[in-house]
Amino acid sequence: MISLKSDREIELLRKAGHIVYLTHQYLKPYVKEGITTKELDRLAEEFIRSQGATPSFKGYEGFPATLCTSVNQQVVHGIPGNYRLKNGDIISIDIGACYKGYHGDSAWTYAVGEIDEEKKYLMEHTEKALFQGLAQIKPGNRIGDIGHAIETYAKEHHLGVVEELVGHGVGTNVHEEPDVPNYGRPGTGPLLREGMVIAVEPMLNLGSKEICMLDDDWTVETMDGSPSAHFEHTVAVTKDGYQIMTGE
Ligand code: MG
Ligand code: MG
Repeated sequence: MISLKSDREIELLRKAGHIVYLTHQYLKPYVKEGITTKELDRLAEEFIRSQGATPSFKGYEGFPATLCTSVNQQVVHGIPGNYRLKNGDIISIDIGACYKGYHGDSAWTYAVGEIDEEKKYLMEHTEKALFQGLAQIKPGNRIGDIGHAIETYAKEHHLGVVEELVGHGVGTNVHEEPDVPNYGRPGTGPLLREGMVIAVEPMLNLGSKEICMLDDDWTVETMDGSPSAHFEHTVAVTKDGYQIMTGE
């Protein structure tokens, strides 16, 4: 069932989303050569708790950490550990926070020091693909319109669209209905209605769209080893468009 949120619920989702945004801003200056992903995770957990919230992902289906930290060819769900960031890496940091029972979910890909042109291209166009998808959000459009816009933009820029992992509804659960794929046909899928809250999250690869799972049963990587980027916002459908929950 797709739930429509009341104004009061939207306010709480906005607060949770804002904490996620603040956590990204807090972490950004630490994303530098030499820091381990485990250290980033500790900083994020402390910060989220200091805001009166709890990490959404820690313990979710057994996930062991606050952040998902996915470096270079890792697509999503990387587990923070002893890996030390190097100049030229890109790292996707996915953050979820729960405030008074409501969640926010946002991922962003960051450059570590100086990155090459290919990685810059991947990051720039994955972020733009997110906003192409968001631009489709208004009552009367459908979920397929979002995915179609992302897929079309990605293909125009010769990027691989990961299909196995999708966006989702957000509310009192971090993952709710509906699924929000990064591909689709216009005019298909569930109708967008005012009060729906969804996370839109393109995962685009510099190479092919094929992915594989590591032995830790969490980390997803590109099959061909090419770098991958991930940009995600949680948004609410409004009367005539959308409002970003995981922003300023
Ligand atoms: Mg996320
Ligand atoms: Mg998500």
